[in-house]
Amino acid sequence: MRVPIIAGNWKMYKTPKETRQFIEQFQSQVKNIQHKEVIICPPFISIPAAVETLGQSMIQVGAQDAHFCNDGAYTGNISPVMLREIGVRYVIIGHSERRQEGENDEIINRKIKNVLNNGLKVIFCVGETLIQREKNATESVLQVQLMQGLQGIAVGDLSRIIIAYEPVWAIGTGKTATPSQANDVHQFIRQIIGHKYSALQSEEIRIQYGGSVKPENIQLLMKQPDIDGVLVGGASLQVDSFLKIIHYDQTE
Ligand code: PEP
Repeated sequence: MRVPIIAGNWKMYKTPKETRQFIEQFQSQVKNIQHKEVIICPPFISIPAAVETLGQSMIQVGAQDAHFCNDGAYTGNISPVMLREIGVRYVIIGHSERRQEGENDEIINRKIKNVLNNGLKVIFCVGETLIQREKNATESVLQVQLMQGLQGIAVGDLSRIIIAYEPVWAIGTGKTATPSQANDVHQFIRQIIGHKYSALQSEEIRIQYGGSVKPENIQLLMKQPDIDGVLVGGASLQVDSFLKIIHYDQTE
């Protein structure tokens, strides 16, 4: 039984003050959440405000990136050691907005390993561009991203990795993959995991969908057998819409 996992990626939105205000409004309405994991990923600077305001809440805090070293002369970067110390539990690695800025599969693989080595969990993003989809290259692109991103990662660490399938053409564009399009890709990802690891891992790994998820499409997405949760950008920035997404199973 894969526990549904819903994460909000706030990108470069919300100052510490705005983060506190959001969580103060949001928190009381997610108190009784059961059989679901909810994660908020604010910008680095707003993480302490999120952790403090959440207190003992079940809602977890994630970061949007982390470096592949623990310390060093890396101006402007943040390491997983630092993130763990301030209460971060998850780190998003390989988001397409970072890949577009030059992050490649080798760097992503090093980052994933370092996050895991520091006892944190990873949301590992993969996805094809529109041009790649139109060339029927979705599967080959994902295969490379997955095999290289997971290179050298032991089977015992896989339970701390969530895969987020985020077609680049659906991120922030208002275009969503249809639920069945997304489910087909999730099945393909399970096959890759099955080949690389085993049938058990392919069954157990949680795969989120991301790309213009909103209250209007969450129910159909979550009805798909291979979609185990969502990674939400824009719609996680408003309390109302994020709550509707989290409570997708209570509004049918
Ligand atoms: C994202 O940032 O991972 C994302 C999916 O964004 P949006 O929901 O805005 O498309």
